Amino acid sequence: MPKPEANIFWKEGQPYSTQYEDVYFSSDSGIDETEYVFIQHNQLEQRFKALPQNQFTIVETGFGTGLNFLCAWALWDKTAPKHARLNFVSTELHPLTASDLSIALKLWPSLENYAQQLIAQYQNILPGMHQLAFSQDRVNLTLLIGDVTETLPTLHASVDAWFLDGFSPAKNPQMWQTDLFSTMANISHADTTFATFTSAGVVRRGLQAAGFEVQKAAGFGKKREMLFGQFSVIGLANNKASSKPKIYKKQTAIVIGGGISGTTTSYALAKRGLQVTLIERHKALAQEASGNPAGVLYPRLGNPQDKLSQFALAGYLYSLRLLNQLNLSQEHYQTCGVLQLAFNAREQARCDSAITQGLPDSLLKQVNQDEASTLACVDLNAGGIFFPTAGWVNPSAWCTALTKHENIKIKTSTQAIRIIRTGDVWQVLDRQNCIAEADIVILACAKDVVQFEQSSHCVMQTVRGQVTLVPSTSASEQLRTVVCSEGYITPTHQQMHCLGATFSTDDHALDVREADHLHNLGILQEISPALYDSLKPQALKGRVAFRSTTKDYFPLLGPLLDAKQLNANPPRYNDNPCTLPWLDGLYVNAGHGSKGLISAPLCAEVLASIICGEPVPIAKSLMSAIEPNRFALRALGLKLMASHIYDQSIQ
Ligand code: SAM
Repeated sequence: MPKPEANIFWKEGQPYSTQYEDVYFSSDSGIDETEYVFIQHNQLEQRFKALPQNQFTIVETGFGTGLNFLCAWALWDKTAPKHARLNFVSTELHPLTASDLSIALKLWPSLENYAQQLIAQYQNILPGMHQLAFSQDRVNLTLLIGDVTETLPTLHASVDAWFLDGFSPAKNPQMWQTDLFSTMANISHADTTFATFTSAGVVRRGLQAAGFEVQKAAGFGKKREMLFGQFSVIGLANNKASSKPKIYKKQTAIVIGGGISGTTTSYALAKRGLQVTLIERHKALAQEASGNPAGVLYPRLGNPQDKLSQFALAGYLYSLRLLNQLNLSQEHYQTCGVLQLAFNAREQARCDSAITQGLPDSLLKQVNQDEASTLACVDLNAGGIFFPTAGWVNPSAWCTALTKHENIKIKTSTQAIRIIRTGDVWQVLDRQNCIAEADIVILACAKDVVQFEQSSHCVMQTVRGQVTLVPSTSASEQLRTVVCSEGYITPTHQQMHCLGATFSTDDHALDVREADHLHNLGILQEISPALYDSLKPQALKGRVAFRSTTKDYFPLLGPLLDAKQLNANPPRYNDNPCTLPWLDGLYVNAGHGSKGLISAPLCAEVLASIICGEPVPIAKSLMSAIEPNRFALRALGLKLMASHIYDQSIQ
């Protein structure tokens, strides 16, 4: 993967791109230029004050120093209703290094407070999509790192205003292409506006051809003219995907399931202002797969082209950001690093592929056996790869922290048995009575999702897993990192190591077994005979839980189809997915297997974005990969529709 960083030359204290031989903003006054070109000509102040719904979406081409973002954020803070969210999406091919970004932002003392917050989160800005949250989640920055002509078509969004930046068309003709304008049209609606500093003919004609009404205004500083305008009626008529902006009125939600999937989903909805009722059948949250004392937080990476690997990396980075925001104590979360050992030829090949991701050493590095042993502080039998920012987390503490939100009401010891649609609401019932009702329901109860009639087509397998808790000894307390092979061992915590986990399909028994302890210890012996010998495995404790997995190892995430209707009237292969029998307001977030800690939180954010009509923080191809009806569609021979379902806007 090429190093995409920006090459900056500081010309009289202002950033200048040596790649494009152009300035990042007007040398007269960058901040005044932003205000005049992008803010005023998109009428942002008036629109922020009179929002038609709870959020507003701006998409920018060229994040650069983040000046436009900070100005939009500052205006949002001053003018938008307190409960509303600003979604600012920006694309960037050559991100500034964190140090260049902070030098550039020193130019604007009036934005210092905002700049500091951006700089604090401006880490791991790698190719792909990244979501950064500010102002108690009222402002959401999604960065699309890569060439805009490749990244923008992957974005699922409905855009209210465009900031067309990106160096002058004469210096950067590759960006201002016809495809850029047609992609813009695909995600614009009747009230979408745009503004750009340039008045180049190629931009004006390109925008007009894509269906935008274009006007000229006096340019800023030395520039004679600039362009601004609105998506037009003709554009709308040509573009079936665009429409009137949809108004999202969902205000209440029920989430069924109190594990990591249900609690992250509740959190993602609550921070968007929905009133959430979280239903859990046990006496407390996190009693099943999320109930293990320590869960290992690291991504299983492989070939960078592989969607599972892309999803794992995106999920991992998202979980790290979320945990950082929640500020869990050391007692519950430690980024002690994770070593993944290349213990056989297949794993060696996987580790070699992971390294081709080109991630910085701060995220991933290859280590030989000696280096791995030095990092772990115990002798290991193999080298492999090391994730310095990975570690372990106590899932139950994480779930609890997520649900401490004023918009979340928890109902424990409550079992949801049935769900029914009554008028405009969903009701959740136990054996006899209605437990709760709401605009939407999210099924986040792992394998039990299939017990509800409406979601019985969500195919999952359950896999039994037993962990072993071994008392530490002074020798084993030397272990500094988590070490993974076919199983894993955590460093000592409260005088215990956690070893796991067995993997037994078609076994539904809950008993803790000696044989499974021996299996876990056997793996430890292969990882490190020295560590194994240092333990005194007596009176072992353990815990059994069930992971719910799918045939293709992707989770199940998104709105549900009515499978009965689907099977009774199978669609044609070329039907628009919008016309399928969607169950309005019923969603699932499940099937995370043993990867729930890096998969469920990102899925929750994706789901809440879909529900609230916000830009979705993963590419459309990944949204389709996790789409929960894919097995039902494939069974009807609609494989192609299943894999491209988000290419046409469904909600
Ligand atoms: N909006 C920025 C700000 O507030 O600082 C200034 C943007 S600067 C004029 C243009 C930016 O567009 C640069 O950061 C450049 O790397 C980026 N860019 C240029 N071509 C691009 C492309 N094809 N895809 C994505 N970003 C691109």
